[in-house]
Amino acid sequence: MPLHLLAFFAHPDDETMLMGGTLALLAQQGAHVHYLCATRGEGGEAGEPPLCEVAQLGEVREQELVGAVGALRGRSLTFLGHVDPRVGPDNELFPFTDNMPHLAGQIIATIKQFDIHAVITHGSNGEYGHPTHVLCHQATVTAILSLPEEARPVLYTASASFPEHPYPRLTNENDPAHFILDLTPVLAKKTAAALCHRTQHALFVRRRSEQEGRPMSVPEIIIPVEAVHRLLPAWVGDADDPVAELLIRAGAHLSFG
Ligand SMILES: [Zn+2]
Repeated sequence: MPLHLLAFFAHPDDETMLMGGTLALLAQQGAHVHYLCATRGEGGEAGEPPLCEVAQLGEVREQELVGAVGALRGRSLTFLGHVDPRVGPDNELFPFTDNMPHLAGQIIATIKQFDIHAVITHGSNGEYGHPTHVLCHQATVTAILSLPEEARPVLYTASASFPEHPYPRLTNENDPAHFILDLTPVLAKKTAAALCHRTQHALFVRRRSEQEGRPMSVPEIIIPVEAVHRLLPAWVGDADDPVAELLIRAGAHLSFG
C-alpha cells in the first residue's frame, strides 16, 4: 500500500515555500500526498501591482493553491474554511482561531478520511515566529496525541534547522534537522508551484532583492535544500518509519546535528 501523507499548513504558499520539494520528492517515490490548508490566505498581499481586489483574494489564492498542488503532484486538496485575519498596524500577525479543540478535531477528521500514515506540518517556532504557523503546529500535535497510540500517524515538521542552512531566518531554531534533502531532482516542480502563487511573487522576492541589491526573480529565490524534523514518535536515531524510508530512497542525507 502506498504511504498516505497529509501536509497541513496555514496559508496557500506555505506548502511550496516550506516543504514543496520534500512533498514533491515523496510523491515521486510513490507517496499519496493529501494537502490540508487552514485558511485561504485572505489576510495576505494581493501583489504589486494588485492582481485582484482584497475581497477576492481568498478565491484567487485558493485557485493558486490548486495549481501548486498539481505541480507538486498532490492527490487531494482540502480547505478547513478558517478566515486568515488581515495584518494589523505595525505588521502585527494574528491567529485565525482561538478554538484549539475544534481545529484539532478538524485535523483528526482529515487523518481518518484519508487513512493517513504520516503528517508533515509547520515547525514548533512557526518558522520565523508566525503565530498562525505555531497554532497549526500545536493543533497537529494535540490531534495526533489524542489518538490511541496504535492509530497515531508519524509526525514530521518542516523547515528544520541545521548549521549550513543558507537562510536560517526561515528555519525553526528548536527543531533540529533529521533529514536534509537536496532538491535538485524536483527543483523544477517546486519552482512551478511557486510560480502558481502569483499574488505572492512580490512578497517572495522582496527581502532577497534587498539583500542582493537587484530585482530577483521567483526561480532565483527558490531554496534548493529542505530539511525535516521527526517529532512523533520522538527521534532516537533510527530511520524506522515509512517516511524516513522514502526520504532515504529519495537521497536524503541523515543528520545527527
Ligand atoms: Zn503561512
